Amino acid sequence: MDIVCLGELLIDLFPAEIGRRLVEVSAFHPKPGGAPGNVAVAARRLGLASAFIGKVGDDAFGRFLIDTLAAEGVETRAIRLDDEARTTLAFIALPDPHHAEFVFYRNPGADTRLRPDELDGELLRHARALHVGSLSLVAEPSRAATFQAVEIARAAGALVSFDVNYRPSLWPAPDAAVAAIRDLLPLAHVVKVNEDELCLLTGTADPDAGGAALLAAGPALVVVTLGARGSAYRSADAAGFVPAFPVDTVDAIGCGDAFMAGVLAGLLGNADGGAWPQRLDDDHLRAILRYANAVGALTATRAGALPALPTAAEVDEFLQVTSG
Ligand code: ADP
Repeated sequence: MDIVCLGELLIDLFPAEIGRRLVEVSAFHPKPGGAPGNVAVAARRLGLASAFIGKVGDDAFGRFLIDTLAAEGVETRAIRLDDEARTTLAFIALPDPHHAEFVFYRNPGADTRLRPDELDGELLRHARALHVGSLSLVAEPSRAATFQAVEIARAAGALVSFDVNYRPSLWPAPDAAVAAIRDLLPLAHVVKVNEDELCLLTGTADPDAGGAALLAAGPALVVVTLGARGSAYRSADAAGFVPAFPVDTVDAIGCGDAFMAGVLAGLLGNADGGAWPQRLDDDHLRAILRYANAVGALTATRAGALPALPTAAEVDEFLQVTSG
């Protein structure tokens, strides 16, 4: 297995209109969502084998989410059903194409109720990479399950990837989020943040200074997403900025997850099982972030998250056309 993604699988309720605040939206359309689920599908479309570990409600939405991942070719055997809590819902508004507002219905949601004893240890021990986010750190028992999965994967020699993906409304206070995220940082090899998250964790939104501060917490690679401007990277040996591809943006939903899958695809290589620690120099990282920026840019040109994620062939064609 190339990538195991662990965390929330939920229903995104997309607004019928862009340019309105939450309470002004006339209708919401249910779509499969949850950042780690998006990464699993994005990785699959880029040609990697992927699996998902998590929990959904034993309800129509939960079964729909499992069916959706399975139809994409994502391994779903480690997804558990909860017969007490419902599948989490996230209402979304897009006051403009680049910014989303969220209201979560998760009181508690099934995704937070994944227990450590429900993890598929076999799957984790055979993964080349484990990808997690911070939504599973908000509450127990999914927080303990996340840390245990990370420990199993690390012990088996897998790359651990962490998208901070901070959603303020889910946490009792920012300090609680910072503390939980800081606990995970030293256990992750690759950490992805946007500028707001960088600022929350380091006190600066500057990718250079903030990236260095995050790197000092333990990861081998820090990537900073900068929306329509591009992305930045920092490892022990390299640091730099890679500009975005200018595209006609429909919405930026799913771009970060698409980008993340692009980074993981680049680090893991295609067929050779390549050693990712040898890909942390400027040459490799510039190429990897250029590829990931292309995956993100293509996602921005289409509506929604999952339906917007491009295939490897689409990314290759886009890169060929773009470089003339
Ligand atoms: P997140 O905030 O979820 O981490 P971003 O919205 O910054 O993610 O998007 C991730 C990446 O996708 C960016 O670094 C960029 O490469 C690409 N991207 C996002 N929005 C656009 C856009 N409007 N135009 C071109 N590329 C984009």
